[in-house]
Amino acid sequence: MHSAVALKSHPGMHMHQGSLFREFQMAAATCLKCEGHAFERGRVLPLGEQQAVSVLQCADCGTVAGILDSQPSIESLQQQVASIDAGIMRIVKAMQDLT
Ligand SMILES: [Zn+2]
Repeated sequence: MHSAVALKSHPGMHMHQGSLFREFQMAAATCLKCEGHAFERGRVLPLGEQQAVSVLQCADCGTVAGILDSQPSIESLQQQVASIDAGIMRIVKAMQDLT
């Protein structure tokens, strides 16, 4: 049982390697069109809109892979955090009332 002993001696290291591998898999995005792995920032002006949107696009063929404009998502995230804060405050208050 040599392999079992080796695993047992470095359990933390083994877990760390696993998480690194998952992160790498997520980072290695593939273009749907040309299967390229290189992406760059670009700006797209949607029809009928005044403000260009930052996008992530394939460096080879220009296919848009995602939207980078983080302003609306940051706002929604802040709202989520605020509601979580409010929830935590309610729990804290309820616990204080119990004691
Ligand atoms: Zn491409």
